[in-house]
This record gives sequence, C-alpha cells and structure tokens, in this order.
Amino acid sequence: MHPPEAPETDDWRAAAACVGLSPLIVFARREDEARPALTACGRCPVARRCEEVVAPADSYFDGVSAGRLWRNGRPVRARRKDVARSRASEQSERTGHQA
Ligand code: SF4
Repeated sequence: MHPPEAPETDDWRAAAACVGLSPLIVFARREDEARPALTACGRCPVARRCEEVVAPADSYFDGVSAGRLWRNGRPVRARRKDVARSRASEQSERTGHQA
C-alpha cells in the first residue's frame, strides 16, 4: 500500500535545494532574477521529483523547475553568457573560490 500523496509531497519539498529562496526568485519569469534558483537546481537531490510534480508543460508553469526556467510551460532557452555565469558560480561554490 502506498502512503498518501500529501506527506510524500512535503518530504521532497523539504529536501529541495531551493528551500529558503524567495518565491519571487523561484517563480521568476526572467533568467537574471531566477539565477539563484537555477544554481540551486544544480545540486538539488529532488530535481526529478520536482519536474514530475510540477509537470511544467502540462501546467503551463512559470518559474524554475529541474534546472530550467519555464515560461507558459515551455523551457526558456538560456543565453550563452547566463550559462557561463551559472557554471562559474557553481564552480566557485564547489571550490570556495570566487570566479
Ligand atoms: S529542482 Fe530546482 S526548483 Fe525544483 S526543488 Fe530542486 S532546486 Fe527547487
């Protein structure tokens, strides 16, 4: 027998790497505003569950889920300089050095 959905949902959210970030960041529509959430996704242990529950395409989601920024349920294509900046930020977090 499976446990009820609600407690399981709460469990994965508690483990999310974006816990504590402002909803204005997690549900941002612009990449520059969403960057902290996108960076968190890179180390999130529940990214797969996040995408399953949010189902961005089916829910016409706006915000960040599973390492992507979504707008009206479609992934927003990252600009090249934003990808480079995000990678530099992740690298500096891992090494403790500023990029
Ligand atoms: S995948 Fe990203 S948006 Fe989803 S719970 Fe993890 S950190 Fe938050």
